[in-house]
Amino acid sequence: MELVAVFIIGTLIGSFLNVTIFRVHDDRSVVKGRSKCMKCEEAIDVKDLVPVLSYLNLRGRCRKCKSVISWQYPVIEIVTGLLFVAAWMASGMGLMFVRDAIFVSYLIIIFVYDLRHMMILDKFTVPAMIIAVLLNLWLGYIPAWSILAGGLVLAGFFYIQFAISKGGWVGGGDIRMGALMGFMLGLEHGLVALFIAYLLGAVVSVGLMLFGKAGRKTPIPFGTFLTVSTVVVLFCGGGIVEWYLGLFGG
Ligand SMILES: [Zn+2]
Repeated sequence: MELVAVFIIGTLIGSFLNVTIFRVHDDRSVVKGRSKCMKCEEAIDVKDLVPVLSYLNLRGRCRKCKSVISWQYPVIEIVTGLLFVAAWMASGMGLMFVRDAIFVSYLIIIFVYDLRHMMILDKFTVPAMIIAVLLNLWLGYIPAWSILAGGLVLAGFFYIQFAISKGGWVGGGDIRMGALMGFMLGLEHGLVALFIAYLLGAVVSVGLMLFGKAGRKTPIPFGTFLTVSTVVVLFCGGGIVEWYLGLFGG
């Protein structure tokens, strides 16, 4: 019962994340104004704003003009719901759950925005960084030195590539994303997440090339891998680090 409630809260937050992603891209206020259909600009009824269910009920089309509604809406609502459930199962009710829910929300926004627009916006990473540092310092589960070193080392990792390639390999957004990962996870887990992101990136790139969906030059939004690996390590970081050390008998 508890998990169902957490899932529903997650889907509601997910629909807010959707609104944020679309409105930030269109340069509109996130809090002001009713939600409108993208095509006919008709205001959407409250009864059609229920996460997931409204989309199913309307069969993915606007009630008035029948234009197709992006499948991104229900998918993000469901994914947010599931990740909230995962956070709940990882830490239970308490401040850690609140922290994880906030972190996951920012990471979902960054993931979707990078996937759609190939950009990691400071508008998302900078406030997330500040929140991550403050929450982690306050909660005290990660040592303060590790939080700060994590941000500096991971940002530095991307900054060096940025400097060497004069911005050709990575962008400024990646540097800020690195800092965010370090601030969220601390140094040790941050490095693990970085490693997993490259592993994922390699697997997906090779997969896309094998299936002829991408060539060597096709740009791949690396921020998507960074966010996915951060979520993975956020929920099972301790387990992964232990397994990794175990490989060396440590
Ligand atoms: Zn419409």
